[in-house]
Amino acid sequence: MKRICVFCGSSPGAKPEYVQAAKQLGNALVDKNIGLVYGGGSLGLMGVIGNAVLEQGGEVIGVIPRDLAEKKVALTKLPDLRIVDSMHQRKAMMAELAGAFIALPGGLGTIEEFFEAVTWTQLGVHKKPCGLLNVGQFFDKLIDFLDYVVEQQFIKVEHRSMILVDKSPETLLKKIKGFQPPNVDKAAWALSLANNESKHPMQTKPPRTLP
Ligand code: AMP
Repeated sequence: MKRICVFCGSSPGAKPEYVQAAKQLGNALVDKNIGLVYGGGSLGLMGVIGNAVLEQGGEVIGVIPRDLAEKKVALTKLPDLRIVDSMHQRKAMMAELAGAFIALPGGLGTIEEFFEAVTWTQLGVHKKPCGLLNVGQFFDKLIDFLDYVVEQQFIKVEHRSMILVDKSPETLLKKIKGFQPPNVDKAAWALSLANNESKHPMQTKPPRTLP
């Protein structure tokens, strides 16, 4: 694995351990000679991991849309900072450059980017591993929610299991290395559910009459 793409908050978060984890992940990548691909930002956990890898002499590729770069949030000292025209181009380029994805704690941007990468693995657009670095139990509620979605039959358990989780960067990197993509076709599963449902139509309640 040459490079890993890390999604993380453009804010530092409420707990010092988030910043600590961003540094530790950066150091672990350099130790294993794995390059970092990330959003090229200078703020929050993004800035922490970008600087950590750069300071240790590792490879860092930042990919940032022009409008964000113009807002002066890019880590301009990066030797390889790629300016693109849109968020879509950014995500496509990050996915192309990396062999796996890790999310650190973050907000909407982080969550959206991570789940796009997972969805592409689910659909077979790529077969790349995706992991959550669950520092300070940050992702516990999200993991519980995913289990609920499985229970409610919107995610197949094999697809839920693709999402690797660990609180230690080293162990998460080991899990990423050993990842085997599931051989389960999402579209075929949805079709089989649809066929089954047409044989056993769900009982529907009569529409409620408005007063
Ligand atoms: P968030 O988790 O909402 O803070 O968003 C962080 C993610 O969205 C990062 O992985 C970036 O790809 C993107 N992003 C959001 N805000 C910024 C910013 N100020 N600078 C660079 N990238 C950002």
